[in-house]
Amino acid sequence: MNSEISFSMKEGSIFEILEGYQNGTTISKDKALDLLESNDILSLMNVAACLKTRFKKDIITYSRKIFINITNLCRDFCSYCTYRKNPFESSSIMMHPTEVLNLAKIGQIYHCTEALIVAGERPEDRYPEAKRWLRQLGYSSLVEYVIDISEKIVKETGLLPHSNLGNITEEEMKLLKTYNVSLGVMLESSSEKLLEKGMPHEFAPSKNPIKRIEVIKNAGRMKIPLTTGLLIGIGETKEELINDLFLLKSINNEYGNIQEIILQNFHPKKNTRMQDCPSPSYDYFLKIVSIARIIMPDMNIQIPPNLSPRTFSSFIDAGINDWGGISPVTIDHVNPEFLWPKIKELKCITESKHHRLRGRLPVYPEFIDKPDFISSDLRNYVENFIDLDGLVKEEYLVEFR
Ligand code: SF4
Repeated sequence: MNSEISFSMKEGSIFEILEGYQNGTTISKDKALDLLESNDILSLMNVAACLKTRFKKDIITYSRKIFINITNLCRDFCSYCTYRKNPFESSSIMMHPTEVLNLAKIGQIYHCTEALIVAGERPEDRYPEAKRWLRQLGYSSLVEYVIDISEKIVKETGLLPHSNLGNITEEEMKLLKTYNVSLGVMLESSSEKLLEKGMPHEFAPSKNPIKRIEVIKNAGRMKIPLTTGLLIGIGETKEELINDLFLLKSINNEYGNIQEIILQNFHPKKNTRMQDCPSPSYDYFLKIVSIARIIMPDMNIQIPPNLSPRTFSSFIDAGINDWGGISPVTIDHVNPEFLWPKIKELKCITESKHHRLRGRLPVYPEFIDKPDFISSDLRNYVENFIDLDGLVKEEYLVEFR
């Protein structure tokens, strides 16, 4: 598979580690770990960039979106999170359907194509206020509400929903799939140690990796394009991190439904239990991104540019091919302190690295014609937006800022 690739780098430790790989064999976990220990970051990035060009050409994508923050209430407590709120801290329990649709209509005006729907994990399980609010509108759960509002968003605005609701059941996935072109659930880490006392997921049972992996596999069985990823720097070891990259690769080899992997660098937030924990260093994160590309040469690999505001352009050199969702209107409600770059700026920076910035839908082109991955109710809406490459027609993405 990789025999055509010629790495333009000096012979040295990285070359030796990758010797077999260049002849088409798959890199082993041990070799990936050796790469992570290496100090020759430039050679590593060079290899990753070659692979990226081989499999993804000179294109870097983004998804123009509106961020619909349904509710900050969550039944879990992750010790790095400032997104979750208690009912007394929130101005409202949840976004009313009218607010959701009004926001989606603003997204339509700004030529967004994605309606990103985000909420805390099953808030009705912990908060009677959430349960009551949902019941008053005729829903027994948050997921039921999102299933319904997704349909309304599509029919009233044409925007394509992509929901992130944490651990959902197969039955819920099946119903969401009708009006969601893809779903999202972060693995974050498969380290069970993170559930232990004093660790970040001690009070977050939904982050139990056994459950998360089952959700990812269920999405595979249901042929749902899935966005997943890792949160790097929350206490996992290097071995665990490399294992997780191989784990995602093997799930995708089995089910073929992982449409992209987000590599997110942890940032400590004030007033959280992890406020004094350091972020992963720039060099370490560059190495992780490069190694992810080497392990999965044809995967869509994303880093959120707002989480590396001064350095994100260098991740093109480490082999990424996607900037994720960028909104010209709404903030990143999960990381409100990190503003998204303006789309014009993102375009300039991408072009300065000799790449083209293209808009994509919240479903990647390779899944659009894959049998059974897109519901028949969404097909026309999807096809309205795309060109022959499955990317958003360039004339649709007029620039607003
Ligand atoms: S599950 Fe998500 S929203 Fe809830 S506490 Fe954890 S990170 Fe925050």
